[in-house]
Amino acid sequence: MERANLNWKELSFGYMKTDCHLEYYFRNGKWEEGKVVKDDTINLSIAASCLHYGQECFEGIKVFENKNGKATIFRVEENAKRMIRSAEKLLMEPIPEDVFIDSIFKLVKLNKRFIPPYGSGASLYIRPLLIGISALVGVNPASDYLYVLFCTPVGPYFKGGLKPIKLYVEESMDRAAPDGVGDVKVGGNYAASLRVSAKVRKLGYREVLYLDAKQKKYIDESGPANFFGISKDNKYITPDSESILPSITNKSLMTLAKDELGLTVEKRPVHVEEIFDFKEAGCCGTAAVITPVKSITYRDKTVTYCEGDEPGPISQKLYNKLTGIQLGEEEDKYGWNREIPLE
Ligand SMILES: *Cc1c(COP(=O)(O)O)cnc(C)c1O
Repeated sequence: MERANLNWKELSFGYMKTDCHLEYYFRNGKWEEGKVVKDDTINLSIAASCLHYGQECFEGIKVFENKNGKATIFRVEENAKRMIRSAEKLLMEPIPEDVFIDSIFKLVKLNKRFIPPYGSGASLYIRPLLIGISALVGVNPASDYLYVLFCTPVGPYFKGGLKPIKLYVEESMDRAAPDGVGDVKVGGNYAASLRVSAKVRKLGYREVLYLDAKQKKYIDESGPANFFGISKDNKYITPDSESILPSITNKSLMTLAKDELGLTVEKRPVHVEEIFDFKEAGCCGTAAVITPVKSITYRDKTVTYCEGDEPGPISQKLYNKLTGIQLGEEEDKYGWNREIPLE
């Protein structure tokens, strides 16, 4: 395979144009055939409902070249199902699961020269998004939709391994309301979180740790990632809340924590004061898999989990297991990987 001439080891987690993207229109009550588009722009009415009223949802998935030189994708059915839930919650036309998976396979095959080589630490990031495109001024769901997907090669989220970050519990602002849309992957949640991240970054912290918006007592999640703590008696504890986005990485880590590391897994409301009883904590999501938490600041108290930049041993083991499975270095006994045919 002729690979693109890129410095694979130096890639950042950013956007780069590839050979093409795909566009699928839902018009006149049905999904049309997908189109391959070379240009990386889309054409929209200035009155498109996504622009005014935020009818938008998306996904993020990584494709790897594994140890055996095969292109594989991790638990893609879960992303397909989540995108359907997101679309339905915003009254958008969902993309059928088989169309979603086929579209990704097609996109990857067409852009195969951008799949980073095994061992580079990089991956091909897939970004599917769905938007309402009907020209509307009144507030109503669109009748027409555009499903766009593109890919871009990305380097590891943190170069040089796991880098612990500092979290700050910001109680004066919320990301999502309890009965709102915090549990689906929609752009609006991110727009709402930008000001919170900006505030804590100014104070010297990397990310926000959100509490439940109703009582401000229980941990929700951390910006674009779920949260877990490891208790002193070796439990993997992760919040259960109606305003958390169910992370596929977290779901996988729960399985590995239980079955491979023999930890007890608890998914339940986690009171914020419990942070003082954990021995390790982490954020998890597709982009970084695990971001170890160095410290959490809550009101006038800071709890520190890592000395220096050393992640805790359990976080490190979980990270090695999950990335090992993704890269074909560890047996995929749960059947999480799917090979993408490139010929
Ligand atoms: C995407 C996302 C995550 C992580 O989910 P993964 O499926 O693990 O990538 C966590 N929280 C939010 C708010 C997200 O949008």
